[in-house]
Amino acid sequence: MMHRLFTLFLLFFLSVLLCGGLFAAKRNTLVCDWCGKKIDSNASFLKSEDKNFCSEKCFNQYAESLLPVCDVCGKRFKSGYTSDGRNFCSKTCLETTFHECVHCHRREPKGYILGNNVFLCEYCRELPACASCQMPLDKFAKDLGDGRKLCRECARDAIFTQSEAEKIMTALRQKLADKFKMGTKHPIKFDLCTRAELKKESTGDGEHELGLFIFHRNTLSFFNHTIRSKDEFRILILIGQPPDFFRGVGAHELAHDWMQENLPHIDDPQIREGFAEFVSWLYAKTEKLDRVPWRMEQNTDPVYGDGFRKVRDMMGDAKTAAEWKRILLDYYPSPAK
Ligand SMILES: [Zn+2]
Ligand SMILES: [Zn+2]
Ligand SMILES: [Zn+2]
Ligand SMILES: [Zn+2]
Ligand SMILES: [Zn+2]
Repeated sequence: MMHRLFTLFLLFFLSVLLCGGLFAAKRNTLVCDWCGKKIDSNASFLKSEDKNFCSEKCFNQYAESLLPVCDVCGKRFKSGYTSDGRNFCSKTCLETTFHECVHCHRREPKGYILGNNVFLCEYCRELPACASCQMPLDKFAKDLGDGRKLCRECARDAIFTQSEAEKIMTALRQKLADKFKMGTKHPIKFDLCTRAELKKESTGDGEHELGLFIFHRNTLSFFNHTIRSKDEFRILILIGQPPDFFRGVGAHELAHDWMQENLPHIDDPQIREGFAEFVSWLYAKTEKLDRVPWRMEQNTDPVYGDGFRKVRDMMGDAKTAAEWKRILLDYYPSPAK
């Protein structure tokens, strides 16, 4: 957001006044450009640029009408502020458009929206933050011992056991099948894992990953024959995430599983990750997991963030897996077999 004091309108106002001279000329029928009354041929009148005014009152009203209107209080003003193309008569009016930081409670023009009505100013955003919700940490933070710390709220119900993780993933899988008709019959193995385990399995840097979908096609070549044994499907989810974020990550990985079956030919990482982020975002939105969607929306990563926005724009109002498949196939036709 940008704001600056401006006096442009004031200068314009003055220039209009200066140009406006008193004329006492003989004219044929002139009309006042403000009130519309006829100006007598021998009466004095005011002229400003190409406009004529029967009286100073009319001229003043005209000049006033050229002034900008405050977006907040509706008053016209001569000098004020402009921000994002909006006009404000005073600092007080401008500041009503700022958000209050949930952490320091100051009203600040710049910051981040972390979920529904949760605003964090740019100063507080720089403080050591919770690995899940990104809120500044206090002395009650929980150190997970792997470089991550959780705020008290996230630590309270974060997932630390395999049985809990499996239960959530099984329910989530059913939910996505019901909600979006998105599902496969793959025998997926769900594993809660540590950060080190996730890093080891990841093909990327693994630094910021919260989950991983692993697909293995086991084949054996035998003279001219290829023997296929059972495919392996695994989803790893990072330990120590609160349920809403955990489910967001789970939905992302399950989207990869669905894509593996339905659109395996799409190999553009931006579309693969963008689609998984889109599914996670839509799921989080429909389930009102308010702390989750902003992550995708504000992610500046060229693969995950830009990919998400690209896929979201492609999908429009489509809310079922069959529609998503049709749309993606339009953009990325399956190669002829
Ligand atoms: Zn007039
Ligand atoms: Zn105002
Ligand atoms: Zn703050
Ligand atoms: Zn947190
Ligand atoms: Zn992914």
